[in-house]
Order: sequence, then C-alpha cells, then structure tokens
Amino acid sequence: MKFPIYLDNHSTTPMDPRVLEAMLPYFVEKFGNSASRNHAFGWEAEEAVENARKQIARLIHADPKELVFTSGATESDNLALKGVVEMYREKGDHVITSMTEHRAVLDTAKALETKRGIKVTYLPVDKTGMVSPDDVRNAITDKTVLISIMLANNEIGTINPIKEIGRIAKEKGILFHCDATQGVGKIPVDVQEMGIDLMSFTAHKIYGPKGVGALYVRKKGPRVRIAPIIDGGGHERGMRSGTLPVPLIVGFGKACELCEQEMAAESVKLATMRDRLQAGIMNTLDEVYLNGHPTQRLPHNLNISFAYVEGESLLMGVKEIALSSGSACTSATLEPSYVLRALGVGSDLAHSSIRFGLGRFNTDEEVEYTIKRIIETVTRLREMSPLYEMAKEGIDLKSVQWAAH
Ligand SMILES: *Cc1c(COP(=O)(O)O)cnc(C)c1O
Repeated sequence: MKFPIYLDNHSTTPMDPRVLEAMLPYFVEKFGNSASRNHAFGWEAEEAVENARKQIARLIHADPKELVFTSGATESDNLALKGVVEMYREKGDHVITSMTEHRAVLDTAKALETKRGIKVTYLPVDKTGMVSPDDVRNAITDKTVLISIMLANNEIGTINPIKEIGRIAKEKGILFHCDATQGVGKIPVDVQEMGIDLMSFTAHKIYGPKGVGALYVRKKGPRVRIAPIIDGGGHERGMRSGTLPVPLIVGFGKACELCEQEMAAESVKLATMRDRLQAGIMNTLDEVYLNGHPTQRLPHNLNISFAYVEGESLLMGVKEIALSSGSACTSATLEPSYVLRALGVGSDLAHSSIRFGLGRFNTDEEVEYTIKRIIETVTRLREMSPLYEMAKEGIDLKSVQWAAH
C-alpha cells in the first residue's frame, strides 16, 4: 500500500494515465490554434477539438455542437446563470435554486441578487438532501426565467429527481440548468431524457485535467440563448471567447470516453467498496450516523457523522488518509457545512462529519486499512471525551446545567 491514501475524490480526481497519454502530443508537437483556418497546424488542432467534442457529447447524449468549453464547472455555472438572466431579462427576474447547491451556483445567485436585483428562491431539501419537485413547481411565478438544481450533491452524494424537475420546467416553459459536475461520468446522464436545457460539468472530477469544463446549451426544443460573460474573438459560437486549450480539451474528451466505456462496471465496483466501508465502520462503532440518502446517492460517496468526535480532530488522527470534514471545508472560518445544516443535522453532528470519496484507483486493501484506522481513532478520541463518558453513563446531556464562561 502507498501512503497517503486518497479518499477525497469529490474534490478532485487523479488524472488517468491514459488521459495524459492522449494529451501529450498536443503540448509541443501539435501545438496549433484550433481557430487558425489557413494552415495544417490549425486544422490538426481543430480536428482534435472536434473529436473531443464528440466524445464528451456521447457521454451525455447531446449533439457536439451544443457544448461550450469553459475553464471548469465554476465558470459554466456562472455562464449559465448570468448568461440566461442577462439574455431573458425582458421576460422576468426570478431564479429558483436550492440551499445545497455548490458555492459556484449559490455565490453566483447571490451576486445576481445584490448586483442585478434578481429575485432568487432557495428551496429547502428534505432530511436526505433531496429537492422536492412539488416545491419547484410551487416556487414558479410568471417572472421565473431559470431553475437551477444540481444532479448530485458534492458532500452527501444525494441524487435529485432531475427528470421530474425537467418535466415541470418544460411544462411551464422555463429553462432548466443542472450542475451535473458530480454525476457526469459516475451515473448515466442523458440531457434529453432528463429535460435539461443547460448543464455544467468539469474534467478534473472524472480523471481528466484541471482547468477545462463545459456548459451544455440546448440547441433545439427550445433553442437556448445566453449572453456571454467574456467578450473577444467569438469562439464557441460567441458564447465563450478565448483560444481553446487544445491539450486540456483532448484530455477531457478521452476522460469522457473512458467513463462511457467503464462507468457501468466501475460504479458497481465502487458501490461495493463503499458499502464495505460503510458497514465496516457503522457495524462496529456506536453513535455514528449516515448523512444523505440511503440509496439515491452516488456510488462512491459516504458521509458519516461520528458523535462526540470533532471532525477536524479525527482528520488529524488519520493524517495518512486524505479525507474531508464537514467543517471548514468550504470556508476559512470553522463553520459547519451548510449542506448538512440544510438537512437539519445539528451543529455538533455537522462538525463531526467526514466525507469519504472513493475513486477509480482505490483498492480493497485501502478500504480495509481505512476502516481499521477510523475505528481506532474514533475510539481513542472518545476515550478522551468527557461528554462521551457522561452519555455512556446515561446522563442526559441536554439536562446538564453548564457553567457560564
Ligand atoms: C467541483 C464542483 C464544481 C466546481 O468545478 P471546477 O471545475 O473546480 O470549477 C461545481 N459544482 C460542483 C457540484 C462541484 O462538485
């Protein structure tokens, strides 16, 4: 076994060596600008980009012409929200999203509220982290121009009922954007079947390179139009100017092709490993709680709260394993995760949560090691915890009068 063990695949994934191999010729040898129309260097680059576009489109059941390359999902989310709001401002000024979206959507929505006077509805989620299609329907007004709901959550892995939401959006004639960054390449995604009009995703979460992503923009039924947020040479049909990063795009294409070929088997393998990890930990330790949906979740995700243990302390205790905690993960201040809070998880349990994110290169041996180390460390930390001792002795902690300080 090699240390440290990487179990943070929701943050980013290691690049697949087959992806690197596909990219290498496009750095030095085949360095052309895909927008150069007059010579072989440009043609060669353009051909590589168009091939990648096909590989990516196939994975999500889109037409290659419906893809706009960006620097990643953060930019795609910005382009979708700002681009639609700007283009359709005559039609309305209301956007619907949810409380558990990624910061790339939430912060963009906040910026639209404060800088553009747009009204935003942040829908709550149920205790498993799921958005209710009925809530979406009830939030729609005659001023609603966009619904933005994520496919799968990056902390708890819960998969939203996207198809139902897509159907409601279609029925009401409202555009539907989906941040599918965590779902693409992990679970089947079909923009037709799901009724998605705009969709964000990124290469580095699917074993591709960092710095490249895409926004799917529907071309017909309806034809979606968005205002650009970057002006320039009119690349990507005017929606996103700038010379295309050909090597990154080639890598993104290869990463999608590999996902398309291997996803079915890989998701079974990862779900089996995840279930083993979950059972190994939860069958041994008491007072541990699963966060998210028990079944409707990403195959490689596991999020658990360990009562009476500070998540940060647990991470410090297992430094040879790369994991994320439910505190501080999105901010410099030690605030508990807003995603877990939205599920109704109390502040204490939110602070004691750990996210395990399995990936393509993890092994059964690593899973067994992780189970053993988590059990050891939680047990040791609890032995030092007076609160845990008191709880074990049957003292109701809520009834205790704490001295003020
Ligand atoms: C990682 C992530 C993003 C941001 O993607 P980048 O390519 O790093 O900008 C956006 N949304 C979700 C759900 C993510 O998991």
